[in-house]
Amino acid sequence: MSNIPPLDLKRQYQAIGADVSAAVLEVLASGAYIGGPIVQNFEQQFATYVGTTACVGCNSGTDALYLALRAMNIGAGDEVITTPFTFIATAETISGVGAKPVFVDIDLATFNLDLSQLAAAITPRTKAIMPVHLFGNPVDMTELMSIATQHHLTVIEDCAQATGAKWQGKPVGSIGHFGCFSFFPTKNLGACGDGGAITLNDARLAADLQMFREHGSRQRYYHEAIGVNSRLDAIQAAILRVKLPHLDLWNQQRSAVATRYQQLLANIPGIITPQVTSGGESAWNQYTIRVVAPTGTDAAAHRDRVRASLQEAGVISMIYYPLPLHLQAVYQDLGYPVGSFPNTERVSHEVLSLPMFPELTFEEQQRVVYALKDAIDTCR
Ligand SMILES: *Cc1c(COP(=O)(O)O)cnc(C)c1O
Repeated sequence: MSNIPPLDLKRQYQAIGADVSAAVLEVLASGAYIGGPIVQNFEQQFATYVGTTACVGCNSGTDALYLALRAMNIGAGDEVITTPFTFIATAETISGVGAKPVFVDIDLATFNLDLSQLAAAITPRTKAIMPVHLFGNPVDMTELMSIATQHHLTVIEDCAQATGAKWQGKPVGSIGHFGCFSFFPTKNLGACGDGGAITLNDARLAADLQMFREHGSRQRYYHEAIGVNSRLDAIQAAILRVKLPHLDLWNQQRSAVATRYQQLLANIPGIITPQVTSGGESAWNQYTIRVVAPTGTDAAAHRDRVRASLQEAGVISMIYYPLPLHLQAVYQDLGYPVGSFPNTERVSHEVLSLPMFPELTFEEQQRVVYALKDAIDTCR
């Protein structure tokens, strides 16, 4: 029996590959490879999808976060609050503009920022909050925006894993001041290479974002700021334009996979299934359980044994993320010792992301669940 991968992009290509290839060939024949009407058209369509007035394409989700920070003039001496339980890019961009990431622990149930601890982290230097809709699960944006408004803070949503997720019926990326998206191939809307976008409702800031992504230039060869070269390629925009109309169906299929996992895993002792924020609709980029170790045993070692046992049964799982950002070598200078964020540290020892993609079959899911039950039994 073949392995069940965490994600199989070939199945999506089999379904829509003819349209994707035709769109790529059209760009190749057009001679317009950077910028041009296809990129602009995709930006418009994506803004419409997210429900904002503007969208600025760029080279990656990382650059989307970086450009949003630059557009708000955030830099040396400023602080930006975010979660230590995320991909490095979130905090890396804060450091990249010269500002300081300030971490706040997560809520055990949702894996997202614990908003009850947010206000205590705000100082006179705080300029922005960067919430992450981790694994596709939206942050409570009503509560977050209320705190941000009270303290006059900019909200930059990291929507990299949450394209199509909704908070109280509104797409994420349309609620904060900036929505930052990634089109990395493993994200819900993935290109065939790198890509990203920023959504917003402010034409002046959109023009500033365009200036920063274009070498700090509004008029070619006249430069007003130190910018970057971060454009969305026409080939990637053409591919994304083919895929966007499928996104809602793919997310519904992910949601159906998640619902089946919730049912099949409901009564297995030793695991905790993921919880969607009440009021939110997850995009289910990942289906991440917590494997709880028997008392007196090492949590991470137990989780790793379960993972190895799954792998022997042909089920490939992933660990997002094994080491929280405040404990990374690169962030030792921030001065957060072990124990600073107990929930984050705890889940980093317990999390296991099971195979999750729209095309995953019921039979495959059953195999995952049998293998998991077996793994939990043998790892007691
Ligand atoms: C993927 C990801 C990013 C970065 O996106 P890239 O397109 O890979 O640069 C940022 N934040 C989170 C939470 C991500 O998962």
